[in-house]
Amino acid sequence: MAGTSDEIDTTRPSIARAYDVVLRGKDNFEVDRAFVAEIVKVVPEIYDVATYNRQMLGRGVRFLIEQGITQFLDLGSGLPTVENTHQVAQRANPDARVVYVDNDPMVRAQGKALLAENEHTAVVTSDLRDPAAILGDEAVKRLVDLGRPVGVLLVGILHHLHDDEDPQGIVDAYMAAVPSGSHLFITHFCASSQESREAEQKYLALLGTGRFRTVAEITSFFDGYELVEPGVVPLPAWRPETAVPEELTVGQRLMFGGIARKP
Ligand code: SAM
Repeated sequence: MAGTSDEIDTTRPSIARAYDVVLRGKDNFEVDRAFVAEIVKVVPEIYDVATYNRQMLGRGVRFLIEQGITQFLDLGSGLPTVENTHQVAQRANPDARVVYVDNDPMVRAQGKALLAENEHTAVVTSDLRDPAAILGDEAVKRLVDLGRPVGVLLVGILHHLHDDEDPQGIVDAYMAAVPSGSHLFITHFCASSQESREAEQKYLALLGTGRFRTVAEITSFFDGYELVEPGVVPLPAWRPETAVPEELTVGQRLMFGGIARKP
């Protein structure tokens, strides 16, 4: 995976732009759309999966606000779209603070435009695999008081870290820096079907990242923290606001997620 660069590379798909394709955004190139077209061949519902993830992001942020969380570190935040974390959080609490972290150069350009007027929100263009650098960043220090509970969001991103990049160590480094009462919020690609295994092969071959971990592997990211109900479940089944069918489709089971509290 690339670190941080100012160059927008249009010869290879990028994680942020491919995600923008499935969210039906406009910040993507032919190479990103061609990648998504390959994924559609194995998971025709992939566009819906992105929607389930964004809906879970919204429900999760509202839940965190209800728990009294007023500051959010949104790691691997993606290109601005509808219902971004600061919009959901600040609707409930106008004083909520959000720092977005992403290493895609397009996120920096688009994010700065979106946030120009918002003094409680910042975009940091940095690699989240370096928690010490992120936690020491000026914008993080200005907006996030590490003496008070923080919502640590790793939504739709840990599957883009390879096993040998120590995703667990990265999770733990962020959680070690925040106090009791902080919450960890993860959504993740899941090895939940034959289609998910085929999708993993395509992601790894064509995008370079995309680990579809088992439910047990995803759950173990929360080790040491108190999972809130209903635990780690398919996204549409996490504290749903509308009725959920008993039998979930391949797409509805393609990502799992949960939230836990640091004791
Ligand atoms: N969190 C958002 C959501 O769930 O709607 C966006 C998820 S998007 C699939 C993952 C984002 O993580 C992309 O925007 C990508 O650029 C970013 N990303 C990937 N690797 C990263 C890294 N090492 N450091 C920072 N950001 C990264």
